[in-house]
Order: sequence, then structure tokens, then C-alpha cells
Amino acid sequence: MNIHEYQAKGVLRGFGVPVSRGVAILDASEAEGAARELGGPVWVVKSQIHAGGRGKGTFVGAAPDAKGGVRVVKSVEEVAKNAAEMLGATLVTVQTGPAGKQVNRLYIEEGAQIAAEFYLSMLVDRATGGVAFVVSTEGGMDIETVAHDTPEKIHTIPVDPATGVMPHHGRAVAKALGLSGAQAKEAGALTEKLYAAFVAKDMSLLEINPLVLTGDGRLVCLDAKMAFDSNALYRHPDVMELRDETEEDAKEIEASKHDLAYIALDGTIGCMVNGAGLAMATLDIIKLYGEEPANFLDVGGGASEEK
Ligand code: ADP
Ligand code: MG
Repeated sequence: MNIHEYQAKGVLRGFGVPVSRGVAILDASEAEGAARELGGPVWVVKSQIHAGGRGKGTFVGAAPDAKGGVRVVKSVEEVAKNAAEMLGATLVTVQTGPAGKQVNRLYIEEGAQIAAEFYLSMLVDRATGGVAFVVSTEGGMDIETVAHDTPEKIHTIPVDPATGVMPHHGRAVAKALGLSGAQAKEAGALTEKLYAAFVAKDMSLLEINPLVLTGDGRLVCLDAKMAFDSNALYRHPDVMELRDETEEDAKEIEASKHDLAYIALDGTIGCMVNGAGLAMATLDIIKLYGEEPANFLDVGGGASEEK
């Protein structure tokens, strides 16, 4: 399950992770109040959709020179004006597909002074059977491009689940980011807090891009993408409350009520298969013959007649 950036930052804040102050709004009439509460002098108006690449995204029907889904502004009036423009509009990014996603929420955030942008993510690493940190000095941009063009700039730091996070992991993160002195210490503290949050909440992915070094030398998480292991959600009612069904496919929500593993796809051939392995193989066969599946549907290996 995925959640919005502002919710992810709320989770991180609970673990003492440095994030900027911000206010989430659902209606343009709340924008001015939110801006005044934060105080400025710089604000960032951020579209909240379950997809990345918002900054470089474009709104459907917007003028060619219009700004993207993340806008830096310098007055309360501009916060209100941009909020009114963005709310309800459809944002297309590299991750939304051509249809885009409607922006129903905004996060108004205090603007940070950025001295450097880094990349930091955490994932469950199959190779080591544990959680790994993936860090790079090349933050703020598309990490897939960095991985393709300059793979040597991406560092993977696995954590042994038996020991958990140790000071040497923090030092490795700091070194990979080229930090020293007080900032290396901060990176160490950040590494420990992020690991604690990841494990405590049963996350499957946490991506902070960018993690920034501010003008006054602090490390702050400016973006946060957070996904949770669905199999562990039953023990996190607080996380369940963050679910935003408007971001999910209506067919997938309906299927989940019937305990079916269903994922909508773009093709034309519908598949109803019992067993995930067989379902995957069926999709492969369809692709092999040049056609596209309309869905992945696993009714379960031990499907009963009713199912
Ligand atoms: P996305 O990854 O979806 O494009 P981000 O949250 O990473 O969205 O924002 C895009 C860019 O906007 C960031 O790389 C950063 O340069 C800038 N940005 C985001 N939030 C802030 C902020 N609070 N202050 C200053 N700049 C920001
Ligand atoms: Mg980002």
C-alpha cells in the first residue's frame, strides 16, 4: 500500500526524522491560511498524488510554459493562485501513464534553501535477505537514469537483520554521500532513525529523493515515497487509516474485498487464473504472442467452487 508524501513525512516526523513544516489542504480556500501559518518567505505548493516525477510533470490543458506539479512561490497570493490552478487538475508525470492523475490534495510546505541534493532509499533486498540502504550523491533526478548512465555513483549498504542498524552503516552512508564532520554525524543519526521507522512500520520501500543539505548545513528529507507490506497491514491500524482509495483502481479495490489478487493492466485479453505462478506464465505467453493482457488475476491456488 502506498501513501501520500505529506503522510509519509508525518510518519517520519514521528521517528524524529528531519522534514520541513507543511500543511495539507483539500480546498483552495485553505491555501491562504496554510501559507500564513507557515510564514514564508518561500513556500512550495506540492501536488499530492501516488506517483513521482511531479516536479517535471505537466497539467492536462495547461499552457506550454506553465509550471509543473511542484511549484516554488514567494508570496501568500501566489500560494493561493497556484493552489486554485492545481487542485482538481490532472497531472501527467513519467509515473502516472498518459492519462495522468487528478490532484485532490496539495501540501503547502516551507521552502528549503538547498546546498546539495542526495538520493537515499531503503528496500527489502532479495540478494541479502534484509533491508538495504541505496544512496547516491546524484539526488533530485531520475535514479533510473543514474543507474543506467553512472551505476558507480549508486551505493548499496545492506543491514544484517540479526544485528540491525549499527554505527558503521551510518558511516558508510555518510561516506557515500561525501559528508564529513558534524554532517556525517547527522547522516549517522538519520540512518538509525530511518531504519527504526522502516522496521517498526513494516515498510517495503522508502525513497527520499531528494535528501538535501540545507544552506545552514542540516540534512532534511524534502520528498518521501513510502510503501508498506500489505501482508503486515493488519498490525498497523494507524497506517491503514492513511489509505486513499481515490488513488487506487476501483476494480482493484473491489477485488481486494473478495480476497482476490487482481491488478488492472492496459491490454485486451482478460485472465482468470488459479495460482500466481500460472497467472504470471499466462501473461508471459500472451506477451510472447504479441498481445497484451487486460489484467493479472490470481484467484488462489486452492480456489473453491464458490471462489
Ligand atoms: P517529485 O520527485 O515528485 O518531482 P519532489 O518532492 O522531489 O517531487 O520535488 C521536486 C523538486 O522540487 C525537488 O527535487 C526539489 O528540488 C524541489 N523541492 C521540493 N520540495 C521543496 C522544498 N520544501 N523547498 C525547496 N525545494 C523543494
Ligand atoms: Mg522527488
